[in-house]
Amino acid sequence: MAPRPRRLCAFCGNPGKITDEHLWPQWMGKYTQATEPTRSTRSLGFGHQEADTITIYPHAMRERQGSVLGFVAREVCGDCNGGWMSRLEMKTERLIVPLMQGKRVLLDEEKGTTLATWATKTAWVNEFIGRPGPDPTPQPLATPAMRRHLMDHSTPPQHTRVWIAYHQGLYHLDIRAAELRISPSPDPDDPEVYTALFTALTVDKLTILVWTAETDRVIVPQLPASYWHPVWPFEAAFIWPLQRTVNDLAIDTTLTRHSQRHPLPPHDRVVQGDLGSGIRRLNELRDRPLHD
Ligand SMILES: [Zn+2]
Repeated sequence: MAPRPRRLCAFCGNPGKITDEHLWPQWMGKYTQATEPTRSTRSLGFGHQEADTITIYPHAMRERQGSVLGFVAREVCGDCNGGWMSRLEMKTERLIVPLMQGKRVLLDEEKGTTLATWATKTAWVNEFIGRPGPDPTPQPLATPAMRRHLMDHSTPPQHTRVWIAYHQGLYHLDIRAAELRISPSPDPDDPEVYTALFTALTVDKLTILVWTAETDRVIVPQLPASYWHPVWPFEAAFIWPLQRTVNDLAIDTTLTRHSQRHPLPPHDRVVQGDLGSGIRRLNELRDRPLHD
C-alpha cells in the first residue's frame, strides 16, 4: 500500500506538522457571552446544466453543533499557527475589542488593513471547518495562491472587498458564508465556473463582510456605504461606530441576494438544484417558530 501523502499547510504550502487552528481566537470568550452553535448559510448560485435549462440553487442554512469557540481547522502548520497568524491575532485583539464593544475609534488605514486581513484569513479557515479528511469535497473556493498571498503580504489578495457594519441583534460570535458558483456556458461539458465566497463575521457589535474571488468575472456587490463601510481596499479614515446599524436579517439578506446582482444566462426552463443532505432551505428555517 502506498504511504499516505503528507498533508500540506493550507497557507504556506509546506509539509509541516499540522496543528489545530481555532476559528475564533480563544480570547474572544472573555469579551462575549456567545456559546450557541453556529449556523452557516449556503448559496450556490446558478448556471446551465443543459443548453436550454438553468439550474438555480436555493439559499440554505446549516447548523453546526457545539460551542462556537470550539471550532478548529486542521489544515495549518505549526510554523504558520505560532508565527504570522499568532502575530496577526495579537494585533487584531487590541483593535477588535473596542470595536465589538461599540467604543469610539478612529479607523485609519493601518487598522482597516489589519481588520481586513484577519477577517479574510478567518473566512478562509472557516472553509475548512467540518470538511472530511485530507481530500475535501467540495474544494474550498479560496485557492492556495490566494492564501499564500495573504501570508506573504499581510494584506488580502486582489479581488477582495471587505466592509464593516455596526451590528445590533442576536448574533454574537457568528460566521455565515455564501458560496457562489455561477456557470455561464450552456455547454454542459464546458468546465468554466466563476466562484466567489461571501462571508459575514459578527462579533457582538461589529460585523465584517468579506468578499473574495479568484477573478473579476463575478460582479462585486454594491452595498450602501452608510450601513456597510468599506475597509478594503481602504478609502479614508472614519469614526467608529457608524451612525446606522444592521440587524441579523440584514446580514442574511446581504449574503444571499446574489441572484438580483447577477444577470441570468438565457434559458427556456428553470429547475431547482439539489442541495445535498444535512442542509435545509433558508425559507423552511425562517418559517419555524423561534422557540419550540
Ligand atoms: Zn504553514
